[in-house]
Parts: sequence; structure tokens; C-alpha cells
Amino acid sequence: MPPNNEANECGPTLSDTTGVLYEMDAEPQGTSKDISTLKTTDGRKLELVWTNILAFIYLHTASVYGLWLLLTGTMWQTVAFTALVFTFSGLGITGGAHRLWAHRTFKANLPLRAIFIFFNTIAFQDAVYYWARDHRLHHKYSETDADPYNSTRGWFFSHIGWLCSKKHPEIKEKGKSIDLSDLRRDPLVMFQKKYYFFLMPICCFLLPTVIPVYFWGESVSVAWHVTALLRWCLVLNLAWLLNSSAHLYGNRPYDASISPTTQVFLVWLRFGEGFHNYHHVFPWDYKGAELGRYSRDLTTNFIRLFARLGWAYDLKSVSMDMVQKRVLRSGDGSHPVWGWGDKDHPQEDIKSTTITYKRIVKQN
Ligand SMILES: [Zn+2]
Ligand SMILES: [Zn+2]
Repeated sequence: MPPNNEANECGPTLSDTTGVLYEMDAEPQGTSKDISTLKTTDGRKLELVWTNILAFIYLHTASVYGLWLLLTGTMWQTVAFTALVFTFSGLGITGGAHRLWAHRTFKANLPLRAIFIFFNTIAFQDAVYYWARDHRLHHKYSETDADPYNSTRGWFFSHIGWLCSKKHPEIKEKGKSIDLSDLRRDPLVMFQKKYYFFLMPICCFLLPTVIPVYFWGESVSVAWHVTALLRWCLVLNLAWLLNSSAHLYGNRPYDASISPTTQVFLVWLRFGEGFHNYHHVFPWDYKGAELGRYSRDLTTNFIRLFARLGWAYDLKSVSMDMVQKRVLRSGDGSHPVWGWGDKDHPQEDIKSTTITYKRIVKQN
């Protein structure tokens, strides 16, 4: 079992930091890569995906009705259950798809990964495999045509428009250079990917509707509009706000040269995911924020809880010294990396990384 306190801090091993991107498939980039050549956003006409557009129109209309039902005629048991499902699905995105799988900020044993996969399937934001691939692209090629949520196309596009139109060819092209072998090695991720359209409807829609009706006699309409749709819609929009508002409005205390910002607005409701400027500078930090009170968010505390149980381990973080150094030289044009193990991850930063809850291998 890993140690149960954060005082046990060890440096990363070399094997943790190599071979994440397919070098042979990628264009020569290295630390001198110039992604400005990708920043075209030349007014390309978007090809609309009408099935998604109609589905989102229905979702948001039905969610407004769900909000009305929530305020006027929902049983307290359903309100409590909706809050629980909201929390589970939020953690499935922030703790699971984002911090565990997309960025590898910590490691988790099989039972914890199973919990995260279940939570993530309730959230219905596509399978972890595809979510993590798109998100790694977002970090590697921020604000270019290869960024799926390219905020230079405007707030609406980076919020929901990117899901209502066909992907830019550059996304597919650069997507081939993202190494997903770590995800392919995870049987749970591949299981979810394979059976996604069987598992997702059950977890996201069927169970949240059936449980309130069966166990405490809630009406089908309330369970459907509140627990299933309104809850799904809320988690979706909170996640999208990070791609839209948190790339356009706010301060940039860590690096002024990149677009992500710090937004403490509703950060508790976003499960601690509001320090986007910090996150793009240090995407391998499991806290997604600086040490101190800002790191006391639900996702971080959830990961720490399981670290105490030994289910989460190798929690990667950033020392205050390193943060300070970065803040002092902010705006110097350092290139973003997608997370732990990226080939462009500066050696200086890797050496200064703090890994807590380090797993101890017993030697006989
Ligand atoms: Zn971002
Ligand atoms: Zn991220």
C-alpha cells in the first residue's frame, strides 16, 4: 500500500516520462515547434451536424422545463438524488477523463478506475478514449485549427459550436500524432469505448430516470427532465465553460502569453476546475491549481481521499518554488504540453515535479 501522507515526496523516474507521443507519426516539433503556423482560422465554412444541433436544442429546452419542475414540484428525495448524480458525473469528467486519463496526473488501481469509468459514463461526454484524445490536442495545439475547441473561432464555437459542426481536417491530421497507447493499455477504457452506446444510455438516462420512479414514486416526467436531462445539461455546460469563457475572460497570472485564464467564478460548482491558466502551464498537477486554499476543491479532495486508502497513488504536483519561477518569467512564450510525459515537457520542470503518495514496491 502506498504511504498515507504527502510528506513522502519523491522525484519521478525516467521511465515515467518517455514515449508518450508517437515520434514517427508526428511532424518534427520538439521544443522549437512553432504552432503559430497552424493558427489559420481563415473563416472556413463550418459543415453543420444537424442531428447534434437538434439534440442540443431539445436538451436545453427540456432542461428549462426541468428547472421549472425542480423549483415547483420535485420530491426532496429526487433533489438529493439529482445532486448525487450531478456530483458523480462531474467527478467522472474532472477526476476521471481529465486528471487521470487525459493528463495522467496520478495513478489509480483497478477499483478506483472502475468507479471513474462508471461516473464518466453517467456524464455522457463521449468515451474517455476520445475525450482524452481531443483534450490532449487542445493542450498541444491551443488556439489553432488543430484545437477541437479553438477559442479564436469565438465563444459560441468553443462552447458548443464545435460539437455542432464537422471537425476541421487539421484536428484529424494532428490527432494522429497524439500517442494514446497508455489508454489502449487500460482494459477499462477500452471496455467503455467498445460498449459505449450500450452502457451510456443505461448510466446517463435510464438509471437516473428509473431509480426515482421505482424507489420513491417520483413521476417519470420529473425524473426524466430533472435527474436525467437538467443534470446532464448542467454538467455539460460547466465543462464547456472551461473551453469557452476560461479561454477568453479573466486573469493570466502564470503565463500571459497563452489564452487560458483564471476564473474563480463558480469554481466550487465546477469541481475545482477554474484555474485554467495554471492548468495549461502545469497540466500534470493533480490539483489543477496552486497549493493552498485554491486546491481544496471536490476533485482534489476526492483524489486525496482515495490516496489515503491507497487506491490513488503517484500524485504529481508542482512546488511553490517552481510556480513562483514560472510566474516571474510569465509571458516568455513557453510552449504548452498536454500533461505528464509529453515529449515537449521541459526536463527542468520534470526534475522539479513533486510526486506524493508514491507507491512503495516491497522487496523480498
Ligand atoms: Zn483549455
Ligand atoms: Zn486539461
